Amino acid sequence: MEDQAIHLLRRLTEAHGVAGFEDEVRDIFRDSLSGTVIEDNLGSLFVRRDGGKDRPVVMLAAHFDEVGYAVQSITAEGYVHVALLGGIWSHTALGQRVRILTADRGEVIGIVASKPIHFTTETERKQVVPIEDLLIDIGARSEAEARERFGLRIGQPITFDSEFIQLEGTSLVVAKALDNRAGVALVMTVAEMLADGRQHNTVFCGATCQEELRGRGAQTSARLIQPDIALVIEGIPADDYKGSKQSIRQGELGKGVQIRIMDGSAIMNRKLNQLILDVAEENGIPTQLSVRRSGGTDAGPISLNDSGVPVAVLGIPVRYVHTANSMMDMTDFLNAVKLTREVIARLDETACAGLVEP
Ligand SMILES: [Zn+2]
Repeated sequence: MEDQAIHLLRRLTEAHGVAGFEDEVRDIFRDSLSGTVIEDNLGSLFVRRDGGKDRPVVMLAAHFDEVGYAVQSITAEGYVHVALLGGIWSHTALGQRVRILTADRGEVIGIVASKPIHFTTETERKQVVPIEDLLIDIGARSEAEARERFGLRIGQPITFDSEFIQLEGTSLVVAKALDNRAGVALVMTVAEMLADGRQHNTVFCGATCQEELRGRGAQTSARLIQPDIALVIEGIPADDYKGSKQSIRQGELGKGVQIRIMDGSAIMNRKLNQLILDVAEENGIPTQLSVRRSGGTDAGPISLNDSGVPVAVLGIPVRYVHTANSMMDMTDFLNAVKLTREVIARLDETACAGLVEP
């Protein structure tokens, strides 16, 4: 399964899919899976997997989108100003290659311009460039040239330009957008497994759009599906980056699936979390627990659907999220696939009836 997963992750992470422009990623999902498809009107998409029972209805959701930019304006000299689509620390943006998706000229490569260190003042070297000051250089010499020769228009989406690689001799992969193409790849893999229809529930396997813009697609998808229960799959930020304190680490690469207790968007269902932890233990799958003071996932908006939905987040730790080069351990990914599959097998009517709080 690992080779297949690597192939799928390569396709998904190299696709263009910033928030609001998820078309390429959604097409890969749709074209790879058979079964009844449902879509909301913003760009979220789910395939239905019927099991032996109509209920409970389980929503298994990743998100299609990644962080990036949109063309905000074009200067008289032909440079591009950007607007953010999601959270990017401009510190990580300077000097990177990006791909601008035009309507009729395909992709245009650009460089996030940066002043050579030789010309910076001592004060400038200590500052982070505000996003408003970021400029993309596409090689055009005027606004007219940017528009006519390169096909640039305001509003076009911009993604990081980054190739998927596996680090030699390790189980680590590096790519842009592992948040959340890791989740999309997992949902696709589990949807294939559920095609045998042996589970005792109905599962909607898919992904939302615009998660990076405060979970917009999650709101509309939850209304569409009306789930009894939801499992949110996320490429969550790993906190084992160099310099972080060992004692505060709750999402380390290679240490297993992160089960979130709470974050800035939701308090996960306690009984569902316990069920997941029990299943993990029975199957020898490593997990790590986390309490986050801020941040959030689609679990927030989904949990507030209708009169409330029990939610849980299964997180695959990803180092350097929201940059051109994020990193994931394939063993965490494969463990998360296995855990998700086993949990779904357990979610029958009796198990779900017992989940409602308190
Ligand atoms: Zn995410």
